[in-house]
Amino acid sequence: MNRRKFLELSLITIGSILSYNQLFAKEKMESKLSEKIKEEFEKCLIDNIILCSYTRPNYTDYYFDNPHAHFKIPEDKQELEQILQAIIQNIDSTSITDWSTNVKDCLSYHQFKKILKENKIKGYDIIDKGLITLIQTNDKQSIIYPSQEIRTKQEFHITSQFYSIPIKDFLDANQVISLIKAQNGISILEHPGTKDHPILEYWFTNIKKREFAKKEIVPKVNAVETFNSMNTLYMFLSNAIAKEFLEEYNSITENKKYGIAGSDMHYSLSKMDRAGIYLPKIDFLKFTDKDIIQAKKEALKLRVKTFEHYRDAPRFLYEMLPSKFKEMFGKKGTFSNISALNQ
Ligand SMILES: [Zn+2]
Repeated sequence: MNRRKFLELSLITIGSILSYNQLFAKEKMESKLSEKIKEEFEKCLIDNIILCSYTRPNYTDYYFDNPHAHFKIPEDKQELEQILQAIIQNIDSTSITDWSTNVKDCLSYHQFKKILKENKIKGYDIIDKGLITLIQTNDKQSIIYPSQEIRTKQEFHITSQFYSIPIKDFLDANQVISLIKAQNGISILEHPGTKDHPILEYWFTNIKKREFAKKEIVPKVNAVETFNSMNTLYMFLSNAIAKEFLEEYNSITENKKYGIAGSDMHYSLSKMDRAGIYLPKIDFLKFTDKDIIQAKKEALKLRVKTFEHYRDAPRFLYEMLPSKFKEMFGKKGTFSNISALNQ
């Protein structure tokens, strides 16, 4: 057995032990949550065993959207082409999710548009529709759009889709949602079972905060992320909690909200369609950005079909490594130099 395989199998074993520990935690087995925990545990374990291989179905009347994806700023034309290629080959629609002030080398949609304008890549037509950019090759079309993941004062992350003005971190959640609405954007409550950073500060948000979210956040957002593929290993529990949380909320209100799935990919371009949602097909070329946004808002008022596939543990841990450590593994760093693109 080579070293890499050994490392992968060890991580899966450790992950499984931690997961079992969660699964059989006494107080959780006694609650309704146990069913959801069991389901997510099994899904997470299988996805880890098959190490990333999956077949995502395509439906003729729907397009596939990844509402939660972080891209690295491309350092040169080759990296720019790799991003375009990965998008066009894997996905019909993707957000470019910015972390604003939090992480320096994370690409923003508005920055990406500028880079695309200044660097023509052979074989790709780029049609700028404002808050939507259509990428076209001879036989495929995909769209990209802006989104920003915002940390709020109450430790929940809220995403602002189709934003033109970035929103500051650590504002009150209510204020963040109002600012998104004022820009006519779509607001998503992200992974409500996770408290801030998934690995370091992970345990689920406390009950009091979750009650606040049910009262103050969920009624006002467009959707809730109930599956995040980066919640692998013991963190599958966060997805189980998010699903249970939304079910509980929906059982006591008429103003129902639905769960969506996102990959939350961190720069890795492989398998960018491992989680997301199916939305009713729309003519990307004919419709304006406003039409496409409006259609998405309408679609999210109903339950959308999701595709949910967990990131396997070894690749998850690699993706979460800071750039400096990745360089030690012989990969290029992730520090940006946009000006290099213009030379
Ligand atoms: Zn994220």
